Amino acid sequence: MSRVLLVEDEPAIADTLVYALETECFAVTHALTGADALAANAREAHDIAILDIGLPDMTGLDVCRRLRETGSIPVLFLTARDGEMDRILGLELGGDDYVTKPFSPREIVARVRAILRRSGNGNSPAATKATNPVNSGEGFHHDTSSMRIHFGGTPLDLTAHEYKLLLVLMEKPGRVFTRDQLLDHAWQDPGAVTDRTVDAHIKSIRAKLRAASPGAENLIETRRGIGYSLSPH
Ligand code: CA
Repeated sequence: MSRVLLVEDEPAIADTLVYALETECFAVTHALTGADALAANAREAHDIAILDIGLPDMTGLDVCRRLRETGSIPVLFLTARDGEMDRILGLELGGDDYVTKPFSPREIVARVRAILRRSGNGNSPAATKATNPVNSGEGFHHDTSSMRIHFGGTPLDLTAHEYKLLLVLMEKPGRVFTRDQLLDHAWQDPGAVTDRTVDAHIKSIRAKLRAASPGAENLIETRRGIGYSLSPH
């Protein structure tokens, strides 16, 4: 059963959501303030947080930031005004989402399901996640909510372009990508860079893989005169 942390200070809205989520077999912890929410999550890890932006003691964005200090919990924001929405859209949302009030409880349940599916949290109990945030010690793992790639359990400190490049390779292991294809996928304005740029970034990703696990750099294979692929093994 997935555990939902609901932070909403308007009792009428909160009651409707608690009822709708519990009917759909979610375990719900409801907090009226940001401080209560942080305390509740410290006692027990949750799989997803639903955060109202306008709370009495802090904003939902503050709560999100504080929650993320200890884990990569996905978040669904509840916003009351268009202005609030702009602030959220300014963030890198990753696996997160938002809905604007008024909304239907059914819509919230559907969004929660979609976010949990995306973040791979759909079935795993929060307790397991808390002790084992990366799903295995082997190989690559993409954490969608924190937008980080791990190798062998170690988070890789990648630049934005390196992250996008590696993600393209990870999505189709064994497939060879030409430098042009990689440029198209990982750069918004590929006209401004050259094939050499791809080579330089691959070199840097390999160095970071080697640092995480010696030998791992060989998982990115060079196909001379063609491009790069990620070893399927
Ligand atoms: Ca509110």
